[in-house]
Amino acid sequence: MSDSRSPVDGARVLADLNALRGIGAYKTGVHKPTFSEPHMRSLEWLVQRLREAGLSTGIDGIGNVLGTSMKPGPKLLAGSHLESQNFAGWLDGPLGVVYALEAARVINPDSNTKGAVEVAAWCDEEGHFGSFLGSRSYVGDVTDADIDAARDRNSDRTMREALTEVGLAGRARAKAERGRHIGYLEAHIEQGQTLESGGLAIGVVTSIVGIWQYRITFTGEQNHAGTTLMEVRKDAGVALARFCVDIDDRFPKLSGPRTVWTTGRITLDPGAPSIIPGRAEMLFQIRDDDPAVIDRLEDLLRSMAAEVTAQGRCSVAVERVRTGAPALMAATFQHAIEAASLAFAGGRSIRMPSGAGHDAQILATIMPAGMLFVPSIGGVSHHWSENTGDADIVTGAQVFVEVCRRLLAQ
Ligand SMILES: [Zn+2]
Repeated sequence: MSDSRSPVDGARVLADLNALRGIGAYKTGVHKPTFSEPHMRSLEWLVQRLREAGLSTGIDGIGNVLGTSMKPGPKLLAGSHLESQNFAGWLDGPLGVVYALEAARVINPDSNTKGAVEVAAWCDEEGHFGSFLGSRSYVGDVTDADIDAARDRNSDRTMREALTEVGLAGRARAKAERGRHIGYLEAHIEQGQTLESGGLAIGVVTSIVGIWQYRITFTGEQNHAGTTLMEVRKDAGVALARFCVDIDDRFPKLSGPRTVWTTGRITLDPGAPSIIPGRAEMLFQIRDDDPAVIDRLEDLLRSMAAEVTAQGRCSVAVERVRTGAPALMAATFQHAIEAASLAFAGGRSIRMPSGAGHDAQILATIMPAGMLFVPSIGGVSHHWSENTGDADIVTGAQVFVEVCRRLLAQ
């Protein structure tokens, strides 16, 4: 499986990934919530491997692991995360960390390549306590008050309690040194089926989509479910259900090729079988990498709400509660990934946006950033059965290390 032109040790990459799968194993996947015993043991495992690779490292005050190099010349930061969703897959996170580790092992001792790869495992990318707390802490976007307020969504313990339990309380948090890195590179499983269905090996990420979220509230009239005749009802629940169907009918005409939208939560008030709902609320999300598409869809949403209100039974209010900023991946990184795919994956690559969030979108706020994807079997992720073929994992590692080499040489 190893490519004679590549100094990457494919067997070592697979062995490392399987070692991490053995910590907190669940069926063929893992269960490693943030600050759980298997998560902490995975971080300690990484610290050992990084030290063996000649990097200075430790776990910082928010659970980030950063491995830094004394080698002179440019530095490229690379990594991903080691905690998992509950009862989830073995590659979501560890793949990018192990690729970065392998890149450091191959490139840093090589006197023919100037500069070094530095390795990061960002804490809590999966959001057990917050939103990208580890990488956001590194870029200077997390205050002590944010940490005071953070709670474990699994157990409701505070983040302060968790940090104390795992022995990280009082440790300093690592902060980005401006100008130290030429950029940040992250590899990840695709978590979709674009690569597998196209027989492709590498996804060249162009952008990470922004998420726009809306609270849409329907106000009608609460009344008795037995005595109120149908023609006089002002049923907020029915208005909401019609609105959902209407969105699916009308959005496609104005959306982009990869726009997705979801009604993730519906609440009827008061929510009893014998009461006509007087109020109904839906949380609605749109994802795209083009704010112009979102503008069009938001205008449509508001005009649809106005149409329902004008009919006189229920009034509809649309409130935007989250404004997404898509993160664009650096053109130099996209070029380097394509060139490396040509050299090590037979050119079987495709440019594509990421529909899922990643730490790269946080790092992209302070330095050039790039991402590459490897195929996910059946597009499955956030489930213990998530998997990628060994050959695809090794090809991805070869491409990844070559991308690092090219970026450092520029
Ligand atoms: Zn991930």
